[in-house]
Amino acid sequence: MNERPILVARPSMPPLEEYRKMLEDIWESRILTHTGPKHRQLQEELEAYLDVAHVSLMANGHLSLEMGLTAMGLTGEVITTPFTFASTTQAILRCGLVPVFCDIREDDYTIDCDKLEGLINDRTSAILPVHVYGNICDVERIQEIADRRGLKVLYDAAHAFGETWQGISVARFGDMSAFSFNATKVFHTVEGGCLTFANDALDEFLSSMRQFGQVTGTEEYPYIGTNAKMSEMHAAMGLCNLRHLEEYIGNRKLAVRRYRKRLEGIEGVRLCREKENIKYNYTYFPVLFEEEKLGIGRDGIADALKRHSVFARKYFYPLTSDFGCCKDLGLRADVPVAKYVSERILTLPCYSDITCEEVDRICDIILEQIRR
Ligand SMILES: *Cc1c(COP(=O)(O)O)cnc(C)c1O
Repeated sequence: MNERPILVARPSMPPLEEYRKMLEDIWESRILTHTGPKHRQLQEELEAYLDVAHVSLMANGHLSLEMGLTAMGLTGEVITTPFTFASTTQAILRCGLVPVFCDIREDDYTIDCDKLEGLINDRTSAILPVHVYGNICDVERIQEIADRRGLKVLYDAAHAFGETWQGISVARFGDMSAFSFNATKVFHTVEGGCLTFANDALDEFLSSMRQFGQVTGTEEYPYIGTNAKMSEMHAAMGLCNLRHLEEYIGNRKLAVRRYRKRLEGIEGVRLCREKENIKYNYTYFPVLFEEEKLGIGRDGIADALKRHSVFARKYFYPLTSDFGCCKDLGLRADVPVAKYVSERILTLPCYSDITCEEVDRICDIILEQIRR
């Protein structure tokens, strides 16, 4: 096959001329990092776009999670899900906390609130749910449980940039939310991320923490921090991409519509149902293949796609609770639904400039395999 390879994700690129203009400003000022003008501008624009009191920019999404956990002053156990990217679980472990794995819902793969309360004990200090694939968690019920049991909530919102639930920005839920601006995400700064929160007191603390624990503008270092600053070049990329975000999301939406049209209503092929009260960003298109009904499973479909140079991803397989780095820690993980989903899920290529023809090419291969 000599068709052009299709990868699962492809970074969105703003017009080069717009980025070059930003670079000219940077060359002129010689301010490359340390909370420069581009950093400040991006922070302000994101606070407006995400409709949130505070945005603290970071070098990437993973450090945003670590900083969020640190800022909340947690101890002991954090309840989370294993159906996520490595980063979520590793952030908890790297902060010296113990992840306790809760199962996920069958319909949208977010944390199952019916199973959550049974995992809370006197060592639990927080819940770290994931808006996986941009499916917003049951934020009302999570907050109700957290309030009643005195727990903090940090959302991994890496997949949910720009989304709303009942018209409310996703960045406003819980105590904090962590976003990733990695190149593969719907909004990116090449590498980057941020925390969003309402608590004014955390703003200065996070500015210190991302600069080795130094109190800004002083010679004092009361905290052990890290280096998690966003550079001016990265912030500039974000400013350019933010201007084109609606267009990126609109194009992804067209691709998702096409996928749904071709793959909806097939026995054994399960798609996430779109909910009326969520405004989606259409970053991912996960499909669950039930071998029991189709005669071919997820791995067979992935191999067939690969033979045609289409590289779908087994997101999220394996579960993070099955990682080598977790296996020997004796962590609790009674997660039958997560295991079922993880063994059958395939994330199909979706990016802002994927064409309808490419989506059709992918669907043709899948349908041919199923109909055999
Ligand atoms: C991408 C991602 C992260 C980490 O973000 P980076 O910017 O790559 O460090 C964390 N959690 C989830 C669910 C992600 O998809």
